[in-house]
Amino acid sequence: MNQKTSRKNMQLLDGELKSLSSEGLVSFLVRNANECIQQGLLQSNAPQHFDEVTRVISHQLLEKYLSESNKQEFWAYINEASKNLKYRNIFVYPKNQSKPECIDVLEMEGFATPFEQVLYPFVCAAKDGHLENLKKCNNKSCSHFFIGRKNKLWCSDRCGSKARMQKKRKKDFIKKYNH
Ligand SMILES: [Zn+2]
Repeated sequence: MNQKTSRKNMQLLDGELKSLSSEGLVSFLVRNANECIQQGLLQSNAPQHFDEVTRVISHQLLEKYLSESNKQEFWAYINEASKNLKYRNIFVYPKNQSKPECIDVLEMEGFATPFEQVLYPFVCAAKDGHLENLKKCNNKSCSHFFIGRKNKLWCSDRCGSKARMQKKRKKDFIKKYNH
């Protein structure tokens, strides 16, 4: 999983082939998980709405991934949870090609639970190596998920300068009272 591929993931939904990029799928997960934080869904009792449940599950799964993805148990959990995802091979005949192409397609018909809606993007993103740069903002009052380079600690410049400001204030405080 060290190599990132930007393969398109195909799904069959409502009799139509739809393509999704793994980057797009990661954005979907991150956006949902962050909306879960913004809307305070973790504090509220049992979210009812389908979209709300999707957001809570996205948050839970990304959180679990960040803390447990180095453990075999985590991937065993993902294997068990995703065992009902159905893939099939479909031949397509692209217009500008002389040969048919066989592609892997996920059967999405009848996928109705929020968990399945989250799990599929998660599996595709993990498979293509796009979750490796998943981070959580170091600014505790933010804690938003984001995709960033290795040494990036904050989701935004705003969170970065906020953290530096707090650090400076703490230092000044210690200086002031340590004489
Ligand atoms: Zn932040």
